[in-house]
Amino acid sequence: MKAIQFIAPGQPPELREVDKPSPGPGQVLLKITAAGACHSDDFVLNAPAGAFSYPLPMTLGHEGVGIVAEVGSGVRLSEGTAVAVYGPWGCGACYRCAQGQENYCLNAAEMSITPPGLGTDGAMADYLLIDNARHLVPLGDLDPVTSVALTDAGLTPYHAIKPSLAKLVGGTTAVVIGAGGLGHVGIQLLRALTPSRIIAVDVTEEKLAFAREVGAHETVLSNADTVAEVRKITGKQGATAVFDFVGYQPTIDIAMGVVGVLGDVVIVGLGDGVAAAKVGFFSQPYEVSVRSPYWGTRGELIEVLDLARDGVLDVEVERFSLDDGLEAYRRLAANDLRGRAVVVPD
Ligand code: NAD
Ligand code: ZN
Ligand code: ZN
Repeated sequence: MKAIQFIAPGQPPELREVDKPSPGPGQVLLKITAAGACHSDDFVLNAPAGAFSYPLPMTLGHEGVGIVAEVGSGVRLSEGTAVAVYGPWGCGACYRCAQGQENYCLNAAEMSITPPGLGTDGAMADYLLIDNARHLVPLGDLDPVTSVALTDAGLTPYHAIKPSLAKLVGGTTAVVIGAGGLGHVGIQLLRALTPSRIIAVDVTEEKLAFAREVGAHETVLSNADTVAEVRKITGKQGATAVFDFVGYQPTIDIAMGVVGVLGDVVIVGLGDGVAAAKVGFFSQPYEVSVRSPYWGTRGELIEVLDLARDGVLDVEVERFSLDDGLEAYRRLAANDLRGRAVVVPD
């Protein structure tokens, strides 16, 4: 079968011929119907050698949906069922996993359990091996191509936004920095779940126009004037929640600069891997909370897919064949995509 693989740090991925896996006891083999390319793929591809101890070559793709093609012994799923992959695999037994929070599994690191596409072979291939049927949720009749990104570009912003919902009441402002794959779904989630005014921040007029198309009320270019421009809109109250889907120092500084008293700063973007918010008594308005969430819970993935079924999420997709998948990664690296790049095997 064909697979898009991470070969070596700092090198572009390659399309290669690899063996089709077969499921052992408890495992499931999926025929991939769509796989999404995330900016985190770009981050790991370009991380310095040794930053990640991934066994290479490794098939990329941590957003995947497919059809159950084959099951190992003990699996109750039927062949032909359409499913979405819950990517942040955990041990399934610890306290966090018992809450459905496998993204925060207490044992994953020491047991070397890694997500597909981020340490284990991923979804950018004809087939994907799932370690446990627990990591699949029903897709139902959702379109695979427009819903695959919900497994990360939908789930991650949903998990990021949910703890701030009680604060995002009428008259408040939410700021979304970075209207890309995650951010454009984040804007739609905020529109669907809150009455807040949404200000989107991005680097080009084109990206800002896109942010308005998906629901942002106001947009501001990302530059040295951003804090002042956003504060002109929010007034003294400042932003009640800021979601930074970029995570470089300039955007974290914007987030800390626009947040108001009792507000939330949510750093989702990985940036350069070292940028950070400075927090101290005199560094930000009173009682600001800063958090850096990772992915989301299994239950939340089901909730996000249900929101899509309710018709409130519309993922913008640029579609590529598996043969053209390397082009998806080039466009992602060049910041030349609208929404999500989705790879669809033949
Ligand atoms: P993307 O490339 O699709 O979108 C990034 C967007 O940010 C683009 O619209 C780009 O124009 C914009 N941008 C870049 N620099 C900017 C700046 N200085 N100011 C304002 N906007 C700027 O990326 P994505 O796939 O949506 O991922 C976004 C980030 O989230 C990445 O860092 C990714 O690694 C990270 N991520 C984190 C998690 C998590 O669990 N925390 C999960 C998925 C992705
Ligand atoms: Zn991702
Ligand atoms: Zn666990």
